[in-house]
Amino acid sequence: MEDERTIKENLNGIRRRIGETCLRAGRNPAEVKLLLATKTVAPERIASAIKAGATLIGENRVQEFRDKNAALSALDRECHFIGHLQTNKVKEVLKYVTCIHSIDSLHLAQKLNDRLQFLQRTLEVFVQVNTSFEKSKFGVSPNYAPDLIKQVSELENLRVRGLMTIGTLFATGERARRCFRLLRGIRDEIAVMAIPGVDLRELSMGMTPDFEEAILEGATIVRIGSAIFGGRPTPDGFFWDEKDRP
Ligand SMILES: *Cc1c(COP(=O)(O)O)cnc(C)c1O
Repeated sequence: MEDERTIKENLNGIRRRIGETCLRAGRNPAEVKLLLATKTVAPERIASAIKAGATLIGENRVQEFRDKNAALSALDRECHFIGHLQTNKVKEVLKYVTCIHSIDSLHLAQKLNDRLQFLQRTLEVFVQVNTSFEKSKFGVSPNYAPDLIKQVSELENLRVRGLMTIGTLFATGERARRCFRLLRGIRDEIAVMAIPGVDLRELSMGMTPDFEEAILEGATIVRIGSAIFGGRPTPDGFFWDEKDRP
């Protein structure tokens, strides 16, 4: 099928660029995971990407996991949540994911922990940091990140494994790198604090326009959507900006 082949070619093209960028950065390509950002993408098209070798899927809305689950549940894949999570969705999101990239408040972390205690399981989480200082983005301010991580680390069923950020929109080159360098700096600063139970090995950063810059700054997970699936009908503000929500 035409679309299936395009998705496969796009995926291979991104993999090649990840490999080339790792080479430039003197990094091992095995250190960089590709997460497919599949918001608004139909399940058949996600299935094409999985058949072409993708293994890691991220959604921004719990409802999309629910709607697509039946069509994808037979396929081998790992699901992460990458959007803004409302506390009333905690119970449902845990049916689908093994990791949440977007912890941005202690309140949310506590709600997750309560539910995980009930389920007797643990969950890997990343704290989302707003490195671009744009008001429309979720995530905690860089200054507050160490405190939040310390507090989240005390919640028994959450495992803090990394930091996540969305860089400055449409920025490339040095402007894009600044956000990613800031995130890495925060990670290094917190690592020195040696907080028990906290292991910030993952840096989830970089999207279609800026993933190469993110890899040069140490990304271990790049989240890519439109370079693989094409443009989306819905503006990203819908997913990133509270005031645009229905
Ligand atoms: C949509 C989205 C992405 C991927 O964006 P593209 O520019 O299409 O690659 C990555 N991360 C988050 C949080 C997203 O919402």
